[in-house]
Amino acid sequence: MNYETLLREHGLKVTPQRLGILSAIQEEGHMGIDDLFLQIKKKFPSISLATLYKNINTMVDVELLKEVALSGLKSRYEISKAAHAHLLCEKCGQLKDLDFDLKDLSTKIEYDSHYRMKRIDLMLSGICPDCQQQD
Ligand SMILES: [Zn+2]
Ligand SMILES: [Zn+2]
Repeated sequence: MNYETLLREHGLKVTPQRLGILSAIQEEGHMGIDDLFLQIKKKFPSISLATLYKNINTMVDVELLKEVALSGLKSRYEISKAAHAHLLCEKCGQLKDLDFDLKDLSTKIEYDSHYRMKRIDLMLSGICPDCQQQD
C-alpha cells in the first residue's frame, strides 16, 4: 500500500507522522490510541498525544481512517476498506476482520425496512482460540 498516494487521494498533505501512523495501523490491522501513541513515539519521540489525535481525526474526517467503536473499550482505528464485520474477543480484546458480505445484508434490510442504509457496523463477540486454551 502506498501511503503517500493514499494521503494525496484524500486531499491531505503528506507528513512523516501521518505516514508513520498509517504504516503502524496497517501492520496491526486495528489500533487503539494508546498502542498507537507508544508505537509512534518510537519513531517521533517529540510527538504529543494531542498531535496524534489531531492527525487521526483529520484522517477520520476524510474517511481515510475508520473509527471502530467498541462498547466499554476505547475505539480502535483502521485504514478504510470495503465494509466488513468485526469479531471481538471478550477476554483479550483482540479484534478481527470478518469477510462477510455486508452489501447483501444491507440490500435485504433496505428491502424489508424501507430504510435507506447509510452505514452498517456489525460487531460480533466471543472468546478467541488463544483465550479458550487458557480456561
Ligand atoms: Zn482472546
Ligand atoms: Zn476492521
